Amino acid sequence: MSHFALQSKNVIVNTHSVNNGISEMIAACVEVKNELIHAIHPYGQALTCQVIDYGEQVIMPGLVDSHVHINEPGRTEWEGFNTATQAAAAGGITALVDMPLNCIPVTTTKAAFQEKLTAVKDKLWVDCGFWGGVIPQNINDLDELLNAGVLGVKSFLIDSGIAEFPNVEAKDIRAAMPILAKHDVPYLIHAELDCGSFNEVVITEKYNSFLASRPKKWENEAISLMVDMARESKNKGDNCKIHIVHLSSDEALASIAEAKSEGLRFSAETCPHYLTIASESIPDGKTLFKCCPPIRENKNREHLWQAISDGRIDFIVSDHSPCTPELKHIDTGDIEKAWGGISALQFGLPLIWTEAKARGFSLVDMARLMSSETAKFAGLDSIKGQISVGLHADFLVFDPEHSYEITNEMIKHRHHITPYAGRTVTGQVQHTYVRGHHVYQHDKFINTPIGKPLLKGQL
Ligand SMILES: [Zn+2]
Repeated sequence: MSHFALQSKNVIVNTHSVNNGISEMIAACVEVKNELIHAIHPYGQALTCQVIDYGEQVIMPGLVDSHVHINEPGRTEWEGFNTATQAAAAGGITALVDMPLNCIPVTTTKAAFQEKLTAVKDKLWVDCGFWGGVIPQNINDLDELLNAGVLGVKSFLIDSGIAEFPNVEAKDIRAAMPILAKHDVPYLIHAELDCGSFNEVVITEKYNSFLASRPKKWENEAISLMVDMARESKNKGDNCKIHIVHLSSDEALASIAEAKSEGLRFSAETCPHYLTIASESIPDGKTLFKCCPPIRENKNREHLWQAISDGRIDFIVSDHSPCTPELKHIDTGDIEKAWGGISALQFGLPLIWTEAKARGFSLVDMARLMSSETAKFAGLDSIKGQISVGLHADFLVFDPEHSYEITNEMIKHRHHITPYAGRTVTGQVQHTYVRGHHVYQHDKFINTPIGKPLLKGQL
């Protein structure tokens, strides 16, 4: 069906003739033609094509998740494009951006990127962009990697856990920034810096011992280093875009605010686990909650929410980072040995909405924080992120009132484990459309994978 329309009493649309990023929730009918949003009409408009009426349900722009680890090729026993993009579709995500690790090879050269593009064939249920990686050894390959179509690049300032993806130092960052500025793509930074002095912390089965082993100081120092780097880049006339991934430390918010007020191109994201879980409530020996940087205390969590509302934090992404149950050491509860990463790709919107609603946020805010801002960040805003004429016909249909318990049986990603099992949330994704194709409906996937790679220069 290449020509049809969706309508409801609650559609989050941007009807401004100039794409100013401001959406509102109104009764509307959205006409779709050849995968694109063709027109936005008043609700009830008589059209010659089929009109699907979703009544009071909310039609939202498909979510854009710019931080997902799919691990294919090479570590498909952890996760793969077929299962990860099914989970995405079930979560209302219509485009995601895959991280340059923990696949084998890591995405640090054009050849490795081409292997990844071969690996995604016929597996994508949603559209998919890719980040490349910067390591000390590949500065000379960066130009070619960026020309091949990655949307930007990521580095670690600390051991990544993957030997072939070593961390960078200031000299590497200085070498990379002018190249990234030339391509006008963001530089994503895993911002933890091992400042020593905490290495004597012994990690036991107690969650707090793990938390103490990765203190806020590590994030704070890493972020202030990156503010210095961004300032240096601006002074040189490059003004490279710096982005802090998965911010956890509230103490680093002041540096981020300072960078923004100075006019540096500096942004930050956080994730559902830092916004919906407090360390005080994490049971000891529960390795499913392990991630880096760690989930911190409740007061920290409240400060992150404040930063979401005042714009110091720009948007919310999943950082879906699964592995096998064995590597997660679920049986032994060994936090030290367990792989760090949270698996919850499909539950982002209900998790965040449940908490956000209680804090006075609206679904229009959710669409901004999880769709239009992330699309803009990844350079996808000319095609994704809003219900606006000319953009891809990417939608999710959401029941914002439906409450239910998250169970392992609902999970669509490869290993049916998540720290959220047993949590009650409000809000359910009922349908997902990618470029006008109905891909997900009430727990079922429809037809075949129609997702496409999204390559810079070919959008
Ligand atoms: Zn990550």
